[in-house]
Amino acid sequence: WQKIDMDHRSKDEIYEMEQTFNQMITALEENFQKQETFISDASHELKTPIAIIKSYAQLLKRRGLENPEVFSESVDAIHSESERMQHLVEQLLLLAKNEVDTTREVMDFSAVCQGTIQTIKGAYHRDIHYQVSGTNNVYGNKNQLQQIVYVLVMNAIKYSETPIDIRLFSEKNQVVLQVKDYGEGIDKEDQKRIFDRFYRVDRARSRETGGTGLGLPIATSIAHAHGGQITVESNLGEGSTFTVYLPKK
Ligand code: ADP
Repeated sequence: WQKIDMDHRSKDEIYEMEQTFNQMITALEENFQKQETFISDASHELKTPIAIIKSYAQLLKRRGLENPEVFSESVDAIHSESERMQHLVEQLLLLAKNEVDTTREVMDFSAVCQGTIQTIKGAYHRDIHYQVSGTNNVYGNKNQLQQIVYVLVMNAIKYSETPIDIRLFSEKNQVVLQVKDYGEGIDKEDQKRIFDRFYRVDRARSRETGGTGLGLPIATSIAHAHGGQITVESNLGEGSTFTVYLPKK
């Protein structure tokens, strides 16, 4: 009897092990697939400005000396495309760096928000209201939390011409930051995708504003690494509210 029992047990165990193993392999494959997609998307995004720079350099060489218009157009394009590429590379490096930098300290998130908003206000002279209530301590990486605030406020600036309302408060065991604009808004289908790497609702316009489609993915990966999350509520033509939740310390 005991032998039969043992056989049963070991069969169950083997079956369970096989299940776990299959799940692990599927998870690994999915991860690998995601990495592959990321690398191919990143190289595509980098190849575009390089191709543009190359073709303008050729044009400059062929016709730039005799034609001042061609000269100035080519130099401007080469300049703006190299800036774009620099921004893209900086953001790709941030993504990688944030993943390895896990240093944390207790800090007042109100002060982090205040500092970042002040810097942006100074540079862009926009009507930004910032309202804080309660104590809002979190356990996190100051530099990375600044990046979250920066991305959300800069997006509100880029995609609206309206005042921006920012609120910080505590709710149960969470610190909540809301960044609200009254600009163009995002439709429901796009709301599902804006957190994906390199996704931009309007690619052409986003090129003009210097958008890379990496801002929200950077902010989200930081929020997740801090045990938090970011959500969006928006209606086309009415504006958007991005909300960050972080565990309260
Ligand atoms: P980007 O560098 O293009 O701004 P993000 O990842 O920060 O990249 O945002 C992805 C896309 O989400 C943007 O290209 C834009 O289409 C949309 N988006 C983000 N924030 C807003 C906002 N406040 N209002 C309208 N659209 C927004």
